[in-house]
Amino acid sequence: MEIIHVSAECYPVAKAGGLGDVVGALPKYQNEHGQQSKVVMPMYRTKFLFSNEWELVHEGQQQMGQHAFNYAVIKEKNNTLGFELYLVDINGLLDREKIYGYDDDTERFLAFQIAVCDWISKWLHKPGVIHCHDYHTGLIPFFIKYAFAFRHLASVPTVFTIHNAQYQGQFGWEKFYLLPPYDTAQWGLLDWDHAINPLACAIKCAWKVTTVSPSYLDELRQSANGIENLMQYERGKSVGILNGIDADVWDPSKDSMIVKNYDDHMVKEGKRKNKKELAGHFGLDPDKPLIAFIGRLVGEKAADILPDAIRNSIYQHHGNANFLVLGSGDAQVENRLDEVKHQFNGYVNTYMGYNESLSHLMYAGADFLLMPSRVEPCGLNQMYALRYGTIPMVRSTGGLKDTVKDFGDWQGYGIRFNNADVNDITYSVGRAIDLYHNKKDLYNWMRTYMMHLDNSWDASAKDYIQLYQSLQ
Ligand code: ADP
Repeated sequence: MEIIHVSAECYPVAKAGGLGDVVGALPKYQNEHGQQSKVVMPMYRTKFLFSNEWELVHEGQQQMGQHAFNYAVIKEKNNTLGFELYLVDINGLLDREKIYGYDDDTERFLAFQIAVCDWISKWLHKPGVIHCHDYHTGLIPFFIKYAFAFRHLASVPTVFTIHNAQYQGQFGWEKFYLLPPYDTAQWGLLDWDHAINPLACAIKCAWKVTTVSPSYLDELRQSANGIENLMQYERGKSVGILNGIDADVWDPSKDSMIVKNYDDHMVKEGKRKNKKELAGHFGLDPDKPLIAFIGRLVGEKAADILPDAIRNSIYQHHGNANFLVLGSGDAQVENRLDEVKHQFNGYVNTYMGYNESLSHLMYAGADFLLMPSRVEPCGLNQMYALRYGTIPMVRSTGGLKDTVKDFGDWQGYGIRFNNADVNDITYSVGRAIDLYHNKKDLYNWMRTYMMHLDNSWDASAKDYIQLYQSLQ
């Protein structure tokens, strides 16, 4: 089956978070299962663009409001990523370095979606399924059903995956004129709460809706940034499919971004060397348990409580653990983390910014990975940690609940807590320190055991294929 993934991110072309990891891996695994899975995304000006070979496959012109725009579609020549990759170039809108964060993001992703629909509608054949990811591509299921120019595609099944329902891409009805001409009797499908809401529209119009973990689907029916009722109403066509990890990219025995490669037989030695490198670089003590945090410094990840939680843990546990934070986001959180770092020099360090190779070294060198998330649709970090023998310390929510078992339970291999607050984190840090120093046999067993868990895309790639097949 020909599967067209449409997304704003795809690792290693452009990644801001888990969406990029998923779209960079899932198609490859689907192809290994005999499908023809392809990715279409915007052509940002990133390093990947300049270091690969491309061919032009299509040029077109479309209208957005009063403005006509030209677009081009290029294809990566060598299938370097294990799938066909297409980039859509729209000068003046997509030719930027960053993925998001511009004032005209609404126009940028609208033009992208219009160009994708126009290009696919010009093919001589129809694809088996169009799989859209997150709100940036959420209007596509509507366009191909109700925009007059693309109606030829109306019979193509669409699947929409919610990676994060916090971001919905709403914009006011005063911008309705930017949409391609459509059957206006259907305007209600675009609307949620008196605004055009691409995420809600996708949930209404896609043939199937998936979330990136089963628990997240349950949670969205209770709390979904205003669209809870819609999630309840559309429960019949919704299903939670747990993300996997790209086991080729995230493999401590082959990872070129870490100092010492290791497998489950030499986890102790391998992690020790990587930790030594980290500790040396960040001025930390390699003999103390190292607790890492990697991620966006935003409320969803409970990053705002990190500074107090770290401070409190150091006081309560007499400085018996070290902390290393890699992230960027909320400026206030960054400043407060900076204060803690200066206050507890030698116990805490931070790297503010995005650094892919440092993240790999941290998964390899840290002893524990802290994820106190308030909301975690799936979470990939804990799965990377498991693969690298790093014990996840997670709040019991969303995908974290689906992938981590507390070591107090039968065959548990992680640390779980219930609340995103300073007390629960401090208590969990105490459990981590105790495990590290006083329960060495259990600690070593956990590390080896978790490295054997199969969280790769294999199982989930098959689930998606079955879902597509049910739509044919
Ligand atoms: P989300 O998509 O909500 O940010 P996920 O857990 O699904 O969270 O995915 C996060 C991905 O982004 C992981 O691959 C993680 O390693 C990576 N990541 C997040 N912040 C950084 C950072 N500052 N530097 C490097 N990698 C990061």
